[in-house]
Parts: sequence; structure tokens; C-alpha cells
Amino acid sequence: MTTFEDVVSKAKTVAGVAGKKTSDFIEVTRLKIEIAELEKEMGSILEGLGRLVYDARKAGEDVSSLIDDCSVRLDECQQKIDKLRKKIDDVRSALRCKECGAPNTDDSVYCKKCGARIV
Ligand SMILES: [Zn+2]
Repeated sequence: MTTFEDVVSKAKTVAGVAGKKTSDFIEVTRLKIEIAELEKEMGSILEGLGRLVYDARKAGEDVSSLIDDCSVRLDECQQKIDKLRKKIDDVRSALRCKECGAPNTDDSVYCKKCGARIV
């Protein structure tokens, strides 16, 4: 019988999001990769859970504790994703021109729209 641990270990992917922070652009990319990994993990858990619940129901087993475990894990993933999204917003808003609000690249010194100094 498949256990919750099996579901999670299958769901876990090697994050391997190494690399040094050289710029905000890379930071955002890194955060996006982390979010994608978490979303993938959530997808795998949900998929595995669906299969488990179906099999268990057919076998007449009680899976409520398993569902609880998976729900906790899914909530954790969702919270991490929310935090990462917030971080991306923070990085991005730091690159916005304070005068006109235009988004600028991390290497700009002056706003490409209005010419105000950004850094
Ligand atoms: Zn501007």
C-alpha cells in the first residue's frame, strides 16, 4: 500500500536552485523557479492523493488521516508560494520609478520613461 511518505518523496523534485545572486533579474528568475517547483510538488501530491483515495475507497480503507497529512503539506506549499510571490513583488517594486511608476531594469540608473534618477 502506498503511504503518505511515498506520495511526498515522489512529489519532491531536486530543487537545485543554486547560483549566486548577481542581479534582481536573476533573483526574480530564481524565485519563479522555486514557485514552479512548489506548484509541481502540489500537483504531484494532488495527483497521488487522488489515486490513493480512489484505491483506498475501492478497498474500503479509511484515508481521512492521509488526506489530513496531504492537506497540511499542500497548505505549507501554498504558504511558501505566497511568500515567494510577495518577494518577487518586493524586488519588482524596488525597480519601479518613484516619479512615474514605470518598471525599469535593474541596471538602469535613470528611468527609461521619464528620466528621473532611480538609484
Ligand atoms: Zn519615471
